[in-house]
This record gives sequence, structure tokens and C-alpha cells, in this order.
Amino acid sequence: MQKQAEKFGAKSEYAEVFNMDLTGKLKRVETSSEIYIGKTVVIATGANPRELGLAKEKELIGHGVAYCASCDGMFYKDKIVVVVGGGNSAVSDAVLLSRIAKKVIIVHRRDTLRATKIYHDQLMKTENIEFRWNNTVNELIYGERLTGVRLKDTVTGEENIIECDGLFVSIGRKPTTDFLDNQIELDNKGYIVAGENTETSIPGVYAVGDVRTKLLRQIVTAVADGAMAVHMAEKYIGKM
Ligand SMILES: Cc1cc2nc3c(=O)[nH]c(=O)nc-3n(C[C@H](O)[C@H](O)[C@H](O)COP(=O)(O)OP(=O)(O)OC[C@H]3O[C@@H](n4cnc5c(N)ncnc54)[C@H](O)[C@@H]3O)c2cc1C
Repeated sequence: MQKQAEKFGAKSEYAEVFNMDLTGKLKRVETSSEIYIGKTVVIATGANPRELGLAKEKELIGHGVAYCASCDGMFYKDKIVVVVGGGNSAVSDAVLLSRIAKKVIIVHRRDTLRATKIYHDQLMKTENIEFRWNNTVNELIYGERLTGVRLKDTVTGEENIIECDGLFVSIGRKPTTDFLDNQIELDNKGYIVAGENTETSIPGVYAVGDVRTKLLRQIVTAVADGAMAVHMAEKYIGKM
């Protein structure tokens, strides 16, 4: 895809963006290699899953530790999985996994879910979902891959190990928007507010992929956003 784009005149540069001034008609993008000036800017800096911060967590990604149920769920067919979290994403991940895995255990540090009521009803009706309330995962147990997790009760301090094949960490994502320095409207979680047309609060600036407000963050939706942003940018430049 890159080769094809370059054949038609696109240029690829590898650099880190530190700062942007998006206010004027000409946008200024400061990077680790040089400063770029453009009529439009497409922001595609993504979002990273929040991690638990446990020892060996990074090394076990793809070996039992996962952050995306819709992406990696199928690897856990008829297995036992633990889902950490209590918000909407954890609960919708648990419901999705309950259709694939043999058993899903939701571990939540509080005694109630933050997820909206509609999810509660669905959860309570699902037979292969269990709850461990007032618990946190504080250790990963592993051999060549994850074999279990150690839980700690947040009320009694009691610890116990549960055996599992997979751990889905569903405690939210952090969009990469810090470098924007409040120039663009963000939602309360830090995502750039932009609809299907990828337009942001600043004319000529577009947000695509995981960094923008959207329901499904997947490669196919990110790529579709890219096509839309180019279309919108072309129209914008045509009217300048
Ligand atoms: C563990 C995991 C598994 C997944 N599996 C699947 C799957 O199987 N199928 C699927 O469809 N989706 C999957 N997804 C989701 C998919 O990866 C994303 O939806 C997709 O990559 C979003 O594309 P993006 O371009 O918006 O962001 P990213 O792919 O996150 O790309 C953002 C890029 O911006 C760069 N960047 C960030 N800040 C700066 C800066 N200041 N300057 C310069 N560059 C910067 C980053 O280095 C990165 O290269 C998975 C996600 C995770 C976390």
C-alpha cells in the first residue's frame, strides 16, 4: 500500500511529532527531523491499552495476556479466561468471550460494576460468567505461557490463585493526544472528537483511527477513516 501511494507522489518520513500549531490557515507540525507546513493535517496517533503494570505482563502478550477481546478472543475457544475491569469495555469483552470460552471470570476491584445497566442484565443471564468482586490481579503465574493469576481481596487482603488460560486486561485505553496541547476538542477520555467524516473542531484538521471518538477500534475502521480523511482534505483544499 505504501509503495502504491509513493508511486502516485506520496512521501513517507519517519519522525516523532512534538508540537503542532493548527490555528492558522497553514498548519505547522514540529517533528524530531524537521518542521512541516501544510494546508491540512491528518492525525492518526492511535491509542494504547492501559496495562496492569505487573511483572512479565509485556512478555506474556500473545502468550496468555491480551488487551482486545474482539481481536484475540478466538484463541481462547473452550478455555478459561479472566477479564479484569468493571466498565463497559470489560463487560462487553466478557459477554463476547462467554460465547467463545468455556468460562469467563470477571475480576473487579469494587463490589459493583461501573458498566451501564443494559450490560448488567445480559451478564447476569450468562451462565458461564463468574465474578470475583473486590479483587485485583496482583501477579501473573506462568510457565511457557500464562497458567493463572494471583488475586488479592481488596477488603480482607486474602490472596488466592485461579488457574486460567487467558487474561484480558480491559481497563481502558489511553489515546495519544497529549502533544496536541488542548488545541482540538477532546472528549472526557482524551479522544479527538470527530465523526465518520473525520473532521475535528479545527477546519482542515482530520482525525483517523483509534485516536478519534468511535464505537469500534479495528484496523478496517482505521483504514476506512484514512480514505475519508483524504477525501475531506481534498475537498477542503479545493475550497481554499
Ligand atoms: C493487542 C491488540 C491487538 C489487536 N488486534 C487486532 C486485530 O487482530 N484486528 C484488528 O482489526 N484490530 C486489532 N487491534 C486494533 C488495531 O491495532 C487498531 O484499531 C489499529 O492499529 C488502529 O490504527 P491507528 O493507525 O489508528 O493507530 P496505531 O496502529 O496505534 O498507530 C498509531 C501510530 O502513531 C504513532 N505515533 C503516536 N504518537 C506519535 C507522535 N507524536 N509522532 C509520530 N508518531 C506517533 C505510533 O508510533 C503508531 O505507529 C488490536 C489492538 C491491540 C492493542
